[in-house]
Amino acid sequence: MSVGRPGAPGGPRVRLVPGALEVALAARRCTTWPELAAAVRECTACAELAATRRQVVVGDAPAGARLALVGEAPGAEEDAAGRPFVGRAGKLLDELLAAAGLDRDEVAVLNVLRCRPPANRTPRPDEVARCRGWLERSLELVRPDLVVALGLTAAATLLGRGTKLADSRGRVHEVDGRRVLVSYHPSAAIRFGPAGQPRSALAVDLRLAATLLGEHR
Ligand code: SF4
Repeated sequence: MSVGRPGAPGGPRVRLVPGALEVALAARRCTTWPELAAAVRECTACAELAATRRQVVVGDAPAGARLALVGEAPGAEEDAAGRPFVGRAGKLLDELLAAAGLDRDEVAVLNVLRCRPPANRTPRPDEVARCRGWLERSLELVRPDLVVALGLTAAATLLGRGTKLADSRGRVHEVDGRRVLVSYHPSAAIRFGPAGQPRSALAVDLRLAATLLGEHR
């Protein structure tokens, strides 16, 4: 069941799992990024994650960011540092962004979940549904020209269930007034190695993002 749509009267889309509506309403009360960051840090809507996380990873939202990257969830290093994409995957992401002519310091970096799932397990659907309110409000506050979903969890969250990553790459999806590209998660690029398809695909997709941002100026 859904309530409203992002950017439309009635508020963000909310799957009514316990806690999701409360998160969405709390998120909508935030009118600035610092307000949202403070509110997310207090969130305990997912009892297991709130009990096991070291800290909430709110995300990076530099002023004027025109590109937003959305990953899956914090890993162990992000959980320890309190910032998204700081481990090996983050280093690779920084390299590929730079190769595409994009500066990480000017890019918003978010995750579908703001808290680390224990042992880096895949986020559960109820957790994704709860944290969606924070994600939607984050995107509304950042107002990027383009969003890149990194990996299947982010792609399915932004484009809908049933999304297939390979089929969705290479074209712009217009979703709820947003332009969305889909690519692989940097962790997949690491897992398959430097010569693997995910790494080359991620490099290509970030270059496409840079091109689209250049055209959109
Ligand atoms: S994952 Fe999101 S909704 Fe769940 S406790 Fe963390 S911040 Fe709250």
